Amino acid sequence: MSVESLFPRLEPLLTKVGKPIQYVGGELNSVVKEWDGARVRWALMYPDAYEVGVPNQGVQILYEVLNEREGVLAERAYAVWPDLEELMREHGVPHFTVDAHRPLAAFDVLGISFASEMGYTNMLTALDLAGIPLRSRDRTDDHPIVLAGGHAAFNPEPIADFLDAVVLGDGEEISLAVTETVRAFKDEGRPGGRDGLLLRLAASGGVYVPRFFDVAYHGDGRIASYTPNRPGVPGTVQKHTVMDLDGWPYPKRPIVPTAESVHERYSVEIFRGCTRGCRFCQAGMITRPVRERSRETVTSMVEEGVAASGFQEVGLLSLSSADHSEIGDIAKGLADRYEGTNTGLSLPSTRVDAFNIDLANELTRNGRRSGLTFAPEGGSERMRRVINKMVTEEDLIRTVTAAYAAGWRQVKLYFMCGLPTEEDEDVLAIADLAAEVIRTGREVTGRKDIRCTVSIGGFVPKPQTPFQWAAQTPHEVVDARLRKLRDALRGDRRYGKSIGLRYHEGRPSVVEGLLSRGDRRVGRVIEEVWRSGGRFDGWSEHFSYERWERAAVTGLAGLPVDLDWFTTRERDEEEVLPWDHLDAGLDRSWLWQDWQDSLHGEESLEVDDCRWTPCYDCGVCPSMGTNIQINAPAEGRPLLPLTVE
Ligand code: SF4
Repeated sequence: MSVESLFPRLEPLLTKVGKPIQYVGGELNSVVKEWDGARVRWALMYPDAYEVGVPNQGVQILYEVLNEREGVLAERAYAVWPDLEELMREHGVPHFTVDAHRPLAAFDVLGISFASEMGYTNMLTALDLAGIPLRSRDRTDDHPIVLAGGHAAFNPEPIADFLDAVVLGDGEEISLAVTETVRAFKDEGRPGGRDGLLLRLAASGGVYVPRFFDVAYHGDGRIASYTPNRPGVPGTVQKHTVMDLDGWPYPKRPIVPTAESVHERYSVEIFRGCTRGCRFCQAGMITRPVRERSRETVTSMVEEGVAASGFQEVGLLSLSSADHSEIGDIAKGLADRYEGTNTGLSLPSTRVDAFNIDLANELTRNGRRSGLTFAPEGGSERMRRVINKMVTEEDLIRTVTAAYAAGWRQVKLYFMCGLPTEEDEDVLAIADLAAEVIRTGREVTGRKDIRCTVSIGGFVPKPQTPFQWAAQTPHEVVDARLRKLRDALRGDRRYGKSIGLRYHEGRPSVVEGLLSRGDRRVGRVIEEVWRSGGRFDGWSEHFSYERWERAAVTGLAGLPVDLDWFTTRERDEEEVLPWDHLDAGLDRSWLWQDWQDSLHGEESLEVDDCRWTPCYDCGVCPSMGTNIQINAPAEGRPLLPLTVE
C-alpha cells in the first residue's frame, strides 16, 4: 500500500518556523525510491537538528548501503525544533523523513543513531510525534521496530524501555543482516508477529532486545543480574566489527546539505579503531582493533566523493588520523592531486610530532592555516600518566613551538577536568603549561602575536572503559577548580593575555554521567524530563539542569538510588554493571586491572599501543575473531595529539 507524502500538510507550517529549508530535503545525492518497489523500509534518524545530523558518517553510510540494495529503501529523519513541533501537534502532522516526507510510523525499522546520550529526549519527541507508543511493550505489529545504534548504544539501558532492539559496533553488515531477517519474516507471513521478529533478531546474538532480559536488583539498589526471559536468547550480545574497510568504501555520494551544517566537507574514514589505550576514551575502547583503509581506496574514495559532491574540503577522519601507517603518502598524494585547486584537506582529531608538522604543512598546502589543536587532556604529568595519555611536557612544548615556528599563530590545547584522582594542582598545571607554550613560542619565533586557547571539557566516566568504575567528580568541585584556573590565567601578567580559556560549567556533565552509566530505572527520569518540556539537551540554550534534578527526584522516588548514586559513586569490582551483558570484546578483568594500574599517580602503569608493541590481551581480538590491520610497518615512537583545523 502506497504511503502519501506529508509535504502538502507540512509546507504551510514551514513559513512560520526558523530555518525551514532544513525540513525540505531534495539535497544533492539524496535518494527517493518507490515505496511499493521496496520490501524492507528503513527510516534512519539522527536525533538532533539537521545541521548537526546531516554530516553524520554513520547515517550517511547506512543510507547508501541500504539504498543500493534491490528491494530496500532508506530515508533520513532529524529532530524537529520546538517551533515546528508545536505546529505539528496543533495541525496533527506526524514526524516525517526529509527525503520523501513519509511518516516515520510507516517504515519497518526506525533506526536511531546515538552519538551522544543527550539526544534521548529528542527520541521521545520523535516517537510521540510519529504516533509510535513510547514503550516497546505497548507497540503492535503495525509499528516499526525501533532500533538503536551508535556509541551511546554500548549502554542502552537508560532507554531500554523505549527501544525494541539495539546493535553494537559497525553498522554496515548488521544493517543488511537485520534487513534480510525482516524480509524473510515478511515473506513468510510474519509468523509470531512482532515478538516473532524480535526473537529472530535476538537469537542471532548480534541484536539486543532489552525486553527479552529481566533485571533483578539487590535491596541496596545495585543490580543483581540480567537474565534472558525467552528460550533461544543468548545471555550476552556481541558487537559487530567490519574487518575489510576497503570492501565498504562508503559514503560514495555524500549528501550535500541545503541548509547550513556543522561540517561541510567530504569525510572519509581512513581507519577505524584506536589502540592508544587512553583510559577515559570510550570511542577508542569500543572500536578496537585498528583497521586501516588502504591508500588506494582512500585516494579513489576522495576522487569520487569530491566529484560527486563538489565539496571543497576533504576530511581524513579517524580517532587519531596521523596514526595511519601511510598518512604521509596519503596526505602528499592528495595535496599533489589538488594543488592549485580550491580543494583543501583537513585532519580532524589526530596526533603529531615534528614529522607531523611536515604533514600538517602538507595538509594545508592549499588551504588556510588557522589553527592546530593538541589534546594533552591532563594538565600535569601525573594526570596524563593516570589517564595513559603518554605525552610529556617536553614533547608537547617541542611540538607546539615547532608549529609556531612553521607559521601557525594560534594553537588550541584541549584538557579535561574532573579526572579520577585529580587535585587542584593538576588543573592549575594547565596554566603553567600554557604559559610555557607561549614563552617558548615567543622565544622561537621572536613574535608576540602567537596565541594559545585552552579548552576544557568535564570528564564523564564511560561504560566499557577502565574508568567505568570511577566516581564522577561533583560539579561543584569541577567548577571551583576551573575558577581557580581562570584566576591563575588572569593573574599571569606576562603571558595571560595571549592565553584564551573556554570551559562550560560542570552540571551538564552530571546529566551526561547519569545517562552514560544509568540503568533501566533512569528511563523514568528521561521520560519525566521530556514530559516537562526537555528537548535538545545537548544545546546549552535548551538544557536545564534544574529540570533533570527535579525529574531525578520524581522518577527515582521510592527507590534506593538517586542522581549521586548513579554519578559520584565509585563501583567495586563485583558490582554487576548495566552493560555487562553487552560484549564489546574487552576482557572485564583487563579493564579492572587497567583501572587499578591507573591509581598510582606518577607511578601509574603505562599501556602501550598494540600496533607497535606486542598484544597485551585486552581481549578484543580473540573474542571478536579480529586482528590489528595496518598497511605499512609502524615506525618511530608514538606521536602527539593534534587537530589541524
Ligand atoms: S587483543 Fe591484543 S592486539 Fe587486539 S586490540 Fe587488544 S591488545 Fe591489541
